[in-house]
Amino acid sequence: MSRYLDSVCKLCRREGEKLFLKGHRCNGPKCAFERRSYPPGEHGQKPPSRVRGDFRRQLRAKQKAKRTYGVFEKQFRNYYFKASRQTGITGENLISLLERRLDNVVYRLGFATSRNQARQLVKHNHFLINGRRVNIPSYTVQVGDVITPRERSRHLAVIQEALDYAKQRGAPEWLDIDTDKAEGRVQGAPVVEQIAMELETQLIIELYSR
Ligand code: SF4
Repeated sequence: MSRYLDSVCKLCRREGEKLFLKGHRCNGPKCAFERRSYPPGEHGQKPPSRVRGDFRRQLRAKQKAKRTYGVFEKQFRNYYFKASRQTGITGENLISLLERRLDNVVYRLGFATSRNQARQLVKHNHFLINGRRVNIPSYTVQVGDVITPRERSRHLAVIQEALDYAKQRGAPEWLDIDTDKAEGRVQGAPVVEQIAMELETQLIIELYSR
């Protein structure tokens, strides 16, 4: 299956909310959702169907989570099954697995303005974990890991611009970023309760439990 190639803004419009997939643009007046907050396509402006069954809500919750983190259907399903086999709450385990993906961590630390951009940077060998090159976006980071751009990548305009932006945005408390040294550290487990609620993981669990 190929990666989604159409405008990612359509994904926000389809989900009916901003998924912040395009970096700076998402906070500016050019955001497509701000201008057209109805679903794409010729039926987009019709009133929503009143038939919004459980399945539809569950499916939308899954699609939203999958699109937010930019993972394929099969990968997402694998994350779910892994989460369900772990101890604890499946929904929170699922978010923890998604949050600890290297591309998400690079984005959260502020080395990129979107997860898409972070994924490209990781794939192109721009990052080290504990001094070793890792170019796998789905790599799962662990507590104590130190994430840095490679020496030759540190001054790339795209990373520097993202770091400037990150100074205003800040990083979540489980991550620590030293923007001057361009060094990020995983200092704890992701705080997932809030994200799990926003992403309605309960609906995702119901979908896979059918
Ligand atoms: Fe979504 Fe960002 Fe596009 Fe706005 S600019 S529709 S938030 S991806």
